[in-house]
Amino acid sequence: MPLRTPTDDVNDEKSVSRMTLRQVLYTGMTDVVRFGSDFTHYEQTETEITAYFADGSSVTGDLLVGADGTNSRVRAQKLPHARVDDSGVVAIGGKVPLTGETRALLPEGVFPGIGLVLAPRGMACILHVMEFPWGPGGGSPVPGDPTVDHVNWGVSAHRDRFPADVTGFDGPRLVAQTLAMTPRWSPALRRLFTLTDPATCFPINIRTSVPVPAWPTDRVMLLGDAIHTMTPGQGVGANTALRDAHNLVRALTSGSRSPQVYERQMLDYGFAAVAASKARTGGDQLVHRPVIGRLALAGQRAFLRTTDRVPALKRKFEASLYTTRGGDRE
Ligand SMILES: Cc1cc2nc3c(=O)[nH]c(=O)nc-3n(C[C@H](O)[C@H](O)[C@H](O)COP(=O)(O)OP(=O)(O)OC[C@H]3O[C@@H](n4cnc5c(N)ncnc54)[C@H](O)[C@@H]3O)c2cc1C
Repeated sequence: MPLRTPTDDVNDEKSVSRMTLRQVLYTGMTDVVRFGSDFTHYEQTETEITAYFADGSSVTGDLLVGADGTNSRVRAQKLPHARVDDSGVVAIGGKVPLTGETRALLPEGVFPGIGLVLAPRGMACILHVMEFPWGPGGGSPVPGDPTVDHVNWGVSAHRDRFPADVTGFDGPRLVAQTLAMTPRWSPALRRLFTLTDPATCFPINIRTSVPVPAWPTDRVMLLGDAIHTMTPGQGVGANTALRDAHNLVRALTSGSRSPQVYERQMLDYGFAAVAASKARTGGDQLVHRPVIGRLALAGQRAFLRTTDRVPALKRKFEASLYTTRGGDRE
């Protein structure tokens, strides 16, 4: 399903390479961002807050924003009761440069955005093609920039289908494991796995946050995966982190919303996204069960095939994806 025809440079949906997004966000911020300092803990008083780092340094300010991801130390200190559970699903991801050979392995329909393979035994593969709108001559205009057009893939299944120690596997073992789990998959897709640079492969134990009640507002704000890690079921974890960032900036700068309102709204929409994502990708889904899993898979495939063939259903499905990802949000 192609993305909607672009009409607005800023608000339209786009495929985003995280690495490129980071480069863009970092532009003009080199004197502000400091890398390599491992946050350990904070101390706050009535008037200020100090963040401490493993290298012995510290920084004092008005506010600390914990945007330190799923294993957030800021959250661990602020909300020690908050839990992040395993979803029961494990994935292996990898990245392949887009070349003549790899391009020929993929169907045309995958190129404009995202491709999803729904396979028996609760296995799935997501394919994400990243083609940049390069200028004349092609390639990055920045000398030394390693960015290239590429395909990201991620193969997922119930954790019981993987060796117990898969999260400790190195790149070559992850590629071998992916091939071992997909012996009857399309040879083209298996060739794509084989051509993956093992150094880009990583295992992911997919996790999901357990909702927490609201807390008294202080000088510590949480955003993104640090508070509401979700499974990739809806593909909105990063979207929700960006929504948090946008709302928090407005709360801190415009005076029209307060940090308390930011926290209340963020908890509502953040944990709603956690629940909706878990319903789509979680180890307790029917597709992971024997026998009934086959029926569930047949049902999913029939739904998608019908939706693809009936224009009214297709429009409705497209609109629902757009809304889920926040396309028509204020
Ligand atoms: C397989 C997979 C596919 C996904 N696909 C999508 C998708 O299609 N669309 C989407 O919207 N989302 C997707 N997501 C979710 C998305 O990746 C996350 O929601 C997003 O990265 C969260 O951003 P964040 O800034 O909150 O946390 P992170 O991206 O995890 O960033 C946290 C940062 O904090 C740093 N940090 C951690 N601890 C410390 C410390 N102690 N001291 C200093 N720094 C620290 C880390 O190094 C990191 O740079 C996907 C996730 C997975 C696992």
